[in-house]
Amino acid sequence: MSNELVKLTAAQMAEKIRNKEVSSRELTQAELDVIEAAEPTMHAFLHVAADEALAQADAFDKKLAAGDTEGLPELAGVPIAIKDMIVTKGIPTTAASKILEGWVPPYDATVIEKIKAAGMPILGKTNLDEFAQGSSTEHSAFGNTYNPWNKDCVPGGSGGGSAAAVSSYEAPLALGTDTGGSIRQPASFTGSVGVKPTYGGVSRYGAIAMASSLDQIGPCARTVLDAALLHEVIGGNDRRDSTSIPAPVPPVAAAAREGLKRDLKGVRIGLIKEIGGTGEGFQPGVAKRFNEAVEQLKSMGAEVTEVSLPHLSYSLGAYYIIMPSEVSSNLARYDGMRYGLRVMPPTGVPQTAANMMAYTREAGFGDEVKRRIILGTYALSAGYYDAWYGSAQKVRTLVIEDFAKAFEQVDVLASPTAPTTAFKFGEKTSDPLAMYLGDVTTIPANLAGVPAISVPCGVDDSNMPVGFQFFAPQQHDEAMYKPAAALEAALEDTWGGNILTKMATPWLAD
Ligand code: GLN
Repeated sequence: MSNELVKLTAAQMAEKIRNKEVSSRELTQAELDVIEAAEPTMHAFLHVAADEALAQADAFDKKLAAGDTEGLPELAGVPIAIKDMIVTKGIPTTAASKILEGWVPPYDATVIEKIKAAGMPILGKTNLDEFAQGSSTEHSAFGNTYNPWNKDCVPGGSGGGSAAAVSSYEAPLALGTDTGGSIRQPASFTGSVGVKPTYGGVSRYGAIAMASSLDQIGPCARTVLDAALLHEVIGGNDRRDSTSIPAPVPPVAAAAREGLKRDLKGVRIGLIKEIGGTGEGFQPGVAKRFNEAVEQLKSMGAEVTEVSLPHLSYSLGAYYIIMPSEVSSNLARYDGMRYGLRVMPPTGVPQTAANMMAYTREAGFGDEVKRRIILGTYALSAGYYDAWYGSAQKVRTLVIEDFAKAFEQVDVLASPTAPTTAFKFGEKTSDPLAMYLGDVTTIPANLAGVPAISVPCGVDDSNMPVGFQFFAPQQHDEAMYKPAAALEAALEDTWGGNILTKMATPWLAD
């Protein structure tokens, strides 16, 4: 019974809660049971907050019984997992770094306040690459997360924990952060749905800063509609985030529901030539599924053309200058002074503040984080600033202009979410450049600040999921939800159900 419960979509769970067929507590307990069974092999979570989650569920059930649910969103009472890059009052938050180990935040991120106000119990905090820097979750200081489809493969990154939790049914929903693809690429690798909203569409207050001009919090889910419903819970203006857009959340849930009708007449879709929109240059299994999905879109009436965004070829290079520059600045605060780890210099070394900081940062940060701090410090240094950071910013402007021009011709743009399906553990850890190259498809959306979604479009010959990515114009997130939901629905017709039904789930065995 509880397995049937956890396999429902978040929207279905919410409906059962509203109809009093199931309580939030029963649902939360069912998820905690799956977490207990799955975690020894999955390690999606860094911290499970079982007691807090059940208390939140009880509080919501009481409200529901009292009829006190006016104004609550549709997802009220449905539990959720949170990437450990988002601060949660009273629940440890580490960014998967030793430097923050044991830190218990004294405040909630805005998105957490909204989740709590919605009566959505927080199941726990999910694993990630340290400070969200990576594409496989292998850079976590606290161990790997495994891909539920194949234990030899990475779940993607940096938000591998959130994606694995959602696709393994440990949680119906999760929050992620996306600076260069960390929500979308793990969604693609795990057969789930991931959304990076418009930059400024969801408050970043309380998201641990990686690269502030690129960071965005967004939903991880098993269906497009669930992602949209969560997007509406967390989105909207927040005066505590100076980059927050003073506008309401775009009508994304309505757009998703519209898409489920499988009618895309009048929707213009542009396939981005430079990042695999023609399927060329990508892993054959990815290209094949992508091209089939394009045919499905056409058969639903979409007008599909190929478009060129010429500067996208340079976006990877620009990102790997801008991002580490901002990382080097943002991570300067972890100095052992105010919170987190403090390592004093050994005897014989002068006990100065500067030495304490050096020893703390040496012990507290992993190699990938150090690499980026050093790269960023170099790119921003006097004499090199114009050549590196300045040039990268110019490229960024060209990328923004490319998107603006393309959106004069089409409503949404499309590409595979990632050039490959999930790779094996260890395959890329010794070659940072190989790891970075896999981000080529997701990074442009962050540079341009436009929203993007990854939706599953099948499995390759090794039964590993492939992701299809749509991009929409800034502040028109709804534009991508419609074709994404239509594609999901059409493909479910083809496969006889959600793509996750193709995944073996031994941890759910009754
Ligand atoms: N993989 C990218 C990186 O390593 C994206 C990270 C992210 O989105 N947080 O920077």
